[in-house]
Amino acid sequence: MEVVKVNPELLTLKAYSPGKSSEEVKREYGLTKIVKLASNENPYGSSPLVRKAISSLESFAVYPDGAAITLREEVAKFLRVDENQLIFSSGLDELIQMISRAMLSEGANTVMADATFPQYRHHAVIQKAEVREVPLKDGCHDLNAMAAKIDDRTQVVWICNPNNPTGTYVNSEELHEFLQNVPPHVLVVLDEAYYEYAVAEDFPDTIPLLDHYKNLLILRTFSKAYGLAAFRIGYGIADAQLVKQLDVARLPFNTSVLAQTAAIAALQDQAFVEKCVSENKDELQKFYDVCKRNGFEYYPSQGNFIFIRIPGKESAEVFQYLLERGFIVRPFPNGIRITIGTKEQNEELFQLLEKMMLVTQ
Ligand SMILES: *Cc1c(COP(=O)(O)O)cnc(C)c1O
Repeated sequence: MEVVKVNPELLTLKAYSPGKSSEEVKREYGLTKIVKLASNENPYGSSPLVRKAISSLESFAVYPDGAAITLREEVAKFLRVDENQLIFSSGLDELIQMISRAMLSEGANTVMADATFPQYRHHAVIQKAEVREVPLKDGCHDLNAMAAKIDDRTQVVWICNPNNPTGTYVNSEELHEFLQNVPPHVLVVLDEAYYEYAVAEDFPDTIPLLDHYKNLLILRTFSKAYGLAAFRIGYGIADAQLVKQLDVARLPFNTSVLAQTAAIAALQDQAFVEKCVSENKDELQKFYDVCKRNGFEYYPSQGNFIFIRIPGKESAEVFQYLLERGFIVRPFPNGIRITIGTKEQNEELFQLLEKMMLVTQ
């Protein structure tokens, strides 16, 4: 019998699965409280200004401002860039899709790390582009090996900085050297979803680089440090000419009134972001201490998450142990990624991890 057929590339991919919901886990294991440390959401919520701003919205019958003019003005002022250097999207997920639609097709290739944000590969495959994955070196992007994969058919190179899931970073010097070596026909996408959390002295300050590199596109989001993941809003910063071209692939009303309003309010409250970043830094240090004390392997992180490997234990086993006790983390084949929670959440998690080591040794 004839059946409808999707493009064959789709059959090689899986739809995104967020893992088990808190509700499912509660029911399955008879728990009353769940701590979700699986998606790098902000454990402190978002600025109180956001609730105030969205509750004063009155009219819902008209479409949002597709160009996000007010938000555009605010972000441009905040970053000291031109308004026409910005492109807004329904989360960075959508911007990654837009970039892929605009840049990738059969015969083209794209270069990325082998353990990085999975949406880069996902959309490249849908676009029928060749994906050139370069193994991480000690958990870090291997920029020399990535540069060596670039050829005439390379359209996009993805650098996730800090990298999800490892939390490692490309420093200022390494990035400069890489950009100098990349041919100008290759778009370099710097995914800075965790930019606000990065505190290393030599973490690159990338906006000034836009003046020198017309092939650079920086991604930022309100989902992580600003705590607005529910609203779906992020943006790209690049040369105005490039933004104008990418804008053709953008849906007319891709960011909602709620999202724009929430983002404008969140941007006004930098004290909230600073507080979250400072707490994150202190709590990360406690993770390092626990790892050292127990002989866990980890990568020092510039994000709000940490990648840990417990010698002698499968990550699925660690994941399951924590799940049954109400903590949802993200398992990977060679370790687990844990979002840095609040002080109380982390303390409970540390106790569980240490108990697991005692019981199962
Ligand atoms: C969370 C995340 C995104 C997606 O963020 P949204 O703006 O919520 O779509 C993009 N890149 C990386 C590296 C992320 O961790």
